[in-house]
Amino acid sequence: MPANDSLVAAGVVVSPADLAALPQAHKIASPKEFIFGGNATFTIRSRKTGQRFTFKVTQKVDDATRERRDLFFVGVLTGSDNVGSYTYLGTISQGHYRHGLKSSIGPGAPSAVAFKWFIENLSSPAVEVFHEGRCGRCGRKLTTPESIERGFGPECASLI
Ligand SMILES: [Zn+2]
Repeated sequence: MPANDSLVAAGVVVSPADLAALPQAHKIASPKEFIFGGNATFTIRSRKTGQRFTFKVTQKVDDATRERRDLFFVGVLTGSDNVGSYTYLGTISQGHYRHGLKSSIGPGAPSAVAFKWFIENLSSPAVEVFHEGRCGRCGRKLTTPESIERGFGPECASLI
């Protein structure tokens, strides 16, 4: 997929007003590490449209062995309740996003297009990711500035 200009600045905060519009947003030093932490909630933003999407990426854990697999489920926040109202979007494996056949959201929907672009451009410096103060691995609230900067609590950080 060619780079989509409309989303080149996904996640980039362009002014203090933008930052204010993302309450409790903390910029992550290493987006890739955070996204694949196992239980990551984060917001990206399109500079062109101003549209924001909040995603939740959770890792598949084997029921029997408790081993973490290279399979991540992607949900997009679709309701007003920013804890529970996530709609299944698709999966990521080997770093590639695959839109879910069973998703109620079409592959051409803005949230799906934005996420696909985002995953394919994770290493681009144009991509900035903001989390909401919760650990990317276990989802617990982060309390120290060091943890908030990295996006992981000390215990989880030592396991990554
Ligand atoms: Zn944690």
